[in-house]
Amino acid sequence: MIKVNKDKCIGCGACTATAPEVFDFDDDGLAKVIKNEVNDDVKMAAESCPTEAIEIDEENS
Ligand code: SF4
Repeated sequence: MIKVNKDKCIGCGACTATAPEVFDFDDDGLAKVIKNEVNDDVKMAAESCPTEAIEIDEENS
């Protein structure tokens, strides 16, 4: 399960660049999850998110 905390996201675009198959922008310019697949790109995106807005729960993915 991948989640973007919209209260933290600043719309920097790092995650959509790192894992474009999983993250896209919503109408507010913030990241949203378009495919719930935890892979290495997603983990890298979560680690590089400047506001730690990406939450990964591998047990329920
Ligand atoms: S990397 Fe983090 S702050 Fe940047 S768009 Fe993605 S979720 Fe938002």
